[in-house]
Amino acid sequence: MVDSSLNSPDSLRRIFESEDPSSRNADIDDFAVDGCFLDRALDLAWLGAGSTHPNPLVGAVVVKDGRVLGAGYHKRFGEAHAEVIALDHAGHGAEGSTLYVTLEPCSHHGSTPPCVEHIVKCGVKRVVIPILDPDERVNGSGVQYLRDNGIAVDVGVGQERALLLNMKYLKKKLNLGPSVTLKMAVTLDGRIASHPGARDDITGVEARRMVHRLRAVHDAVAIGVNTFDIDSPKLDCRLVDDVESPVPVVFDSRLSFPGGHPWLSGRAPVIVAGRDAPVEKEKELTASGGRVVRCSLDESGVDIAGAIASVFGLGLESVLVEGGAKVFASFVRAGLWDGLYMFVSPSLFGARGVAVSSEAFDKNHLNAELAGVADVSGDVVLSFINKNTRRSMLERLA
Ligand SMILES: [Zn+2]
Repeated sequence: MVDSSLNSPDSLRRIFESEDPSSRNADIDDFAVDGCFLDRALDLAWLGAGSTHPNPLVGAVVVKDGRVLGAGYHKRFGEAHAEVIALDHAGHGAEGSTLYVTLEPCSHHGSTPPCVEHIVKCGVKRVVIPILDPDERVNGSGVQYLRDNGIAVDVGVGQERALLLNMKYLKKKLNLGPSVTLKMAVTLDGRIASHPGARDDITGVEARRMVHRLRAVHDAVAIGVNTFDIDSPKLDCRLVDDVESPVPVVFDSRLSFPGGHPWLSGRAPVIVAGRDAPVEKEKELTASGGRVVRCSLDESGVDIAGAIASVFGLGLESVLVEGGAKVFASFVRAGLWDGLYMFVSPSLFGARGVAVSSEAFDKNHLNAELAGVADVSGDVVLSFINKNTRRSMLERLA
């Protein structure tokens, strides 16, 4: 599980951007404290990854006098909501408490009764949420109900992290189309492999478990053919119990994907090939369970915009891109990404190591806003949101 011993970036930004130290008043301290408790709720929410669909991931903590008295997350579609689990966990302690939830509490009868009624009944004094829930049955009515019942509600703390947490759900509800998330693991000296062709575990097992949770919330996971050849990755969610693994997508302009690969009998992999790749090979892969889409090639391989449009055309609504450097650079250059997770391990590969393409990290191209910094059992996870995605989401969430 993610250990959020670090303050949230927005809290830190608020503190460090204040010109006069004496202006670090109670409001700013409260904001930093809210950020920390909301981080706890966000970490909890991730534990439901892969099991809550079509519901979003939600976590909640109940806090009184600076102590967490209750915590919970939405485990599975149809089961109790995070707020209710956290409040029940707190018991009588919920009276007069502050409730931190990663999404606006629901105000409608679904498979469970409205959470807002339970929150009022438990005597909660204040509710802190990062964003509204764009579901047409909620969309501000949860906040309105709470305020009408005398509960103070603060909206906006930890916004970027909350947008990343439910990127696919939110983009879909906001009619912003499918989503693309980039993920990369690097050493402190910015290397993605110890030498060309090497297959390395860069991060520890807890960080890898986080990657498997990321996979679990995406419909598809994409890699380039070089990574496929070098790593022969499974691209599954084996470190998370009881969730479905995403559909593998391989950018393979010459269609060298091996017939007889285990993915063909089960996960219906998508192979993105160039227009002049052999037709016979396509027939062979299709007959054994693969799906081949054809795209134009540009100087760096597959035309990424066309390729990803074809993948989405198959009904896959979210893709996690796991590299390698060339594929990563193509998405960044095209501006075709919403979220970015950088796993940084406290190790060095030195001069023989393979560097992340410098092109991929051109500042003007990246257009990234820092969303979160987390310590995951010794590895650091930096999460970013594309500024354009953030803007268009917040415009529609207002
Ligand atoms: Zn609810």
